[in-house]
Amino acid sequence: MTVGESPEDTRGQSGIVRAALLGLCPRCAEATLFEAPARVALTCEACGLDLGALERGGRFGGVLTALVAILLMLAAVGVDMALDPPLWLQAAFWAPVTVVAVIGALRLFKTVLLCASYEHRKGPTE
Ligand SMILES: [Zn+2]
Repeated sequence: MTVGESPEDTRGQSGIVRAALLGLCPRCAEATLFEAPARVALTCEACGLDLGALERGGRFGGVLTALVAILLMLAAVGVDMALDPPLWLQAAFWAPVTVVAVIGALRLFKTVLLCASYEHRKGPTE
């Protein structure tokens, strides 16, 4: 986002991935959404938006993590059968890939839910 661009301009389908990567607040678009790599902050430090109240469906994070893990295991088995790399190489490759994939999926999932919840709560009057 360039300086002077309003948060309204950055919302929408393409903005969701960017918001998830940078942890942008749905109201003020400051990078305050996550207090840890995959944990949503309770309130936005910039605008005071109650993010904890918006975070619905957090219990599906475990299901999402399991789905990502299953996909990664299938990929690892496929790589093992196709290339038969040494075990140390498998571990060195899949450990960081797993961490990045799970955190990335959780961030995207939580950001989409938060933005949808915020838009729903905001309603047509604001
Ligand atoms: Zn904010």
